[in-house]
Amino acid sequence: MSEKCDICFRGCTLEEGRNGYCKVRTIKDGKNVSRSYGLISSAALDPIEKKPLALFEPGSYILSVGSYGCNLSCPFCQNHEISQNDLYSSCERVSAQELVRQALRLKAYDNIGIAFTYNEPLINYEFIRDTFELCKEHDLKTVLITSGAVNDCVLDEVLPLTDAWNIDLKSFTEKGYKDLKGDLESVKNCIVRASRVSHVEITTLVVPGRNDSAKEMEEEAKWIASINPDIPLHITRYFPRWKEKEEPTDIDKLKELEEIAKKYLNHVFLGNI
Ligand code: SF4
Repeated sequence: MSEKCDICFRGCTLEEGRNGYCKVRTIKDGKNVSRSYGLISSAALDPIEKKPLALFEPGSYILSVGSYGCNLSCPFCQNHEISQNDLYSSCERVSAQELVRQALRLKAYDNIGIAFTYNEPLINYEFIRDTFELCKEHDLKTVLITSGAVNDCVLDEVLPLTDAWNIDLKSFTEKGYKDLKGDLESVKNCIVRASRVSHVEITTLVVPGRNDSAKEMEEEAKWIASINPDIPLHITRYFPRWKEKEEPTDIDKLKELEEIAKKYLNHVFLGNI
């Protein structure tokens, strides 16, 4: 029996024992489940500014954990080792309870909570929901770093439990997202919905020749300002990674885009420079 996955715009057809594009969703006992539930590929106590979150609990640290898999395959992915490979057999398995206990132990080192990051967390939303529910019982902050390319059914589950988001806005044109085989409308919907109830910051990695035009930044900044001009925007510098071989983004270009964004937004930061 096959079933269309409703987690993201791709709508993969899933079958018992056969994985979707993200390598995470599959059908088990007739149900769409996450293979990466409780699987951790990496964990670190990171400064909150590294997420990046500039205006959420500045100066603090957060237990940051990643699993594997992604519903996108951006050629410049900085974490392609974990986002693009099926690490089902090599991850460490933890329960939500164990993760929260570890976060509580790390309070002694200024830890404020748990961030799901490094790979795309929302394709494994059940583990996030279960972990964040426990975080709420223990006064721990909850953070998501995501590409935001998921459907409303996922947002409905995690929005009420998430204190802060950093959402990638990888391009502000349909073509830019099409080239990445992504979906701009899903990402815009995620930003709009999350910013109604949580702290939201946005990151745009500027890749030469893909999304570095002044016009595109002008439209992006205007759109963000139409939601809330206080939403922080991180304009970050690209370096060659994985399949993308372009030279790093020119710093003067980043500064030009920063000036454009500042015409509309109150908090604009340059990153990776
Ligand atoms: S979450 Fe994974 S399986 Fe489901 S539609 Fe998206 S890529 Fe396909």
